[in-house]
Amino acid sequence: MLKVLVAPYKAHDLPETDATDRRELVSFAGLCDARSHTRCGCSNSFLVLRTRIGVAAAEVAERDMTLDEYINAFIASYVMAGLPDNADTLRTASSEALQMNRLAKRWPVGTVLNVRGDNVFAQHPQR
Ligand SMILES: [Zn+2]
Repeated sequence: MLKVLVAPYKAHDLPETDATDRRELVSFAGLCDARSHTRCGCSNSFLVLRTRIGVAAAEVAERDMTLDEYINAFIASYVMAGLPDNADTLRTASSEALQMNRLAKRWPVGTVLNVRGDNVFAQHPQR
């Protein structure tokens, strides 16, 4: 089992029929081109890999997948965003997947996380 971050069941800012119901894998959103990110919210979001839709929270989950499969999900997402399917993209995907895996390992399954820039924290502190 691999520890990953997924979109939570109830991402309250999204309709119930949204991709979040299917427990999509997420990554960090990455910053947009705006000079200040207070209005766009990109620094406060996670990004659903398969759809590239931003979500306000992520949840720690376990997936029956290998690290390679996890990395491939990141590559697919980057290629969808227009990056070439090459060694550079593979490197970026690997480091991002490892970073999310390391992050997920810090909390128990089911923990809902928020992000503010570089700071990731549990929405409801664990007892
Ligand atoms: Zn932004």
